[in-house]
Amino acid sequence: MIPFNDLKPLHNLLADELNAAALRALNSGWYILGPELAAFEAEFAAYHGVAHAVGVANGTDAIELALRAGEVGPGDEVITVSHTAVPTVCAVERAGATPVLVEINPDTYTMDAAAARAAVTPRTKALLPVHLYGHPADMDALAALAAQHNLLLVEDCAQAHGARWRGRLVGTFGHMAAFSFYPTKNLGAAGDGGAVITNDAQLAERLRLLRNYGQRVRYHNVMRGVNSRLDEVQAAVLRVKLAHLDAHNAQRRALAAVYDRELAGVMLPRAVGDVEHVYHLYVVRHPQRDRFMEALKAHGVGTLIHYPVPIHRQEAYADLGYGPGSLPLTERIAQEIVSLPLYIGLTAHDAETVAAAARQALAETV
Ligand SMILES: *Cc1c(COP(=O)(O)O)cnc(C)c1O
Repeated sequence: MIPFNDLKPLHNLLADELNAAALRALNSGWYILGPELAAFEAEFAAYHGVAHAVGVANGTDAIELALRAGEVGPGDEVITVSHTAVPTVCAVERAGATPVLVEINPDTYTMDAAAARAAVTPRTKALLPVHLYGHPADMDALAALAAQHNLLLVEDCAQAHGARWRGRLVGTFGHMAAFSFYPTKNLGAAGDGGAVITNDAQLAERLRLLRNYGQRVRYHNVMRGVNSRLDEVQAAVLRVKLAHLDAHNAQRRALAAVYDRELAGVMLPRAVGDVEHVYHLYVVRHPQRDRFMEALKAHGVGTLIHYPVPIHRQEAYADLGYGPGSLPLTERIAQEIVSLPLYIGLTAHDAETVAAAARQALAETV
C-alpha cells in the first residue's frame, strides 16, 4: 500500500535536528515573538532576497493580513481564482473584501491573465494569483496588469515555496507574498504557521502591528489588529527545514520526472515556460477520473483530488452568484484531476510502483 501522503519519513530523516531545535525553543522559557522567530524571519527573508518576513499563525491569516496591510477592505474587489484551496477566498472575505473569481490556464492551473484583465472594475483593489500545485502563475502578465491598474499584487505562495518564474523566486514579484507552513506544504511546520514577505518597510511594519493586536509598544494600540503569531517552537522547526528546502524540492522534481517518464494515457502536469516547478502536488487528468481513482485504490495506491468542487460551486459560496457553467474550464478540470502520491521519503522505486499501478488502472478504466 502506498498512501497519498506520509509525513513520518521526512520527520525521521531530520529527527535529530528537529528534536534538538524544538527542545531548544521549549527549554528557552520564551515562547512567543522571541529569538527563534526573529532568526527564522531573517533567514526566510534572506532565502528570498527580500527585506522583510513577518511570521503569522497560518497561511490564511498571511493572506488576510497582507490584504489588510495593503488597505484592502469592505467595498474592494480582489481578483483571484476559483480553482484553489478554499483559504484563499476565506482570507479575502476575512479582510472584508469581495472575491472575484476568474478562470485558469488549463496547462498550468494558475490564473489566466486575460480573464483577470477582463474582470477589472473601478472597485478592483488587488490581484491575488495562486502558484497552485507548485507551478508559478504568469508573473510577467500579472505584474504588468497590476501595475497598469495600480492594483495591490499579493502572491499566494502556500503551495510553491522555492518555485521560480524566469529564474526568480515566487513571492518576490508582488508587493507582498503569503506563505503557509501547514505540515504538508513544501516547507511545513509541526503544526500551523505562515508568513508574509515584502520589500516594503511600511507594509512590514503594518503586518507586525496587525499580527499582535495592533500594538507597537505593549498595551498601546495604534491600530485594530488580531492575534496571529508564529510561535517559537514552530519557528525553530521551520529554521531546520528551510535549510533543506531546495534539496527537498529537487527530490520532488526527481520523483515527478519518474512519473513523467513512466506514465502515458493520462494528461501529465507540464512546467510551461521558463519555470522551476516544485511539485507540491503531482496532478494528472483523466476523463474517467473517479473510475481511475477507484482502480488505483484497488491496486494499493492512495490518491486525492485538489480540489473536487470549485469554490464558486461550493454551497457556502452560493451567494457569490456564480451559476453552473460560469467558469466552465474550472468546472471541467475539477472533474478530471487527481493527485498522485509525491512526498519526501517516497522512493523512485515507489514512484515506479505507483506508475505501474496507474498503467494497469488505466487499462481497466475504459
Ligand atoms: C494551504 C493553503 C492556504 C492556507 O494555508 P493555511 O496555513 O492552511 O491557513 C492558502 N492557499 C493555498 C493555495 C493553500 O494551499
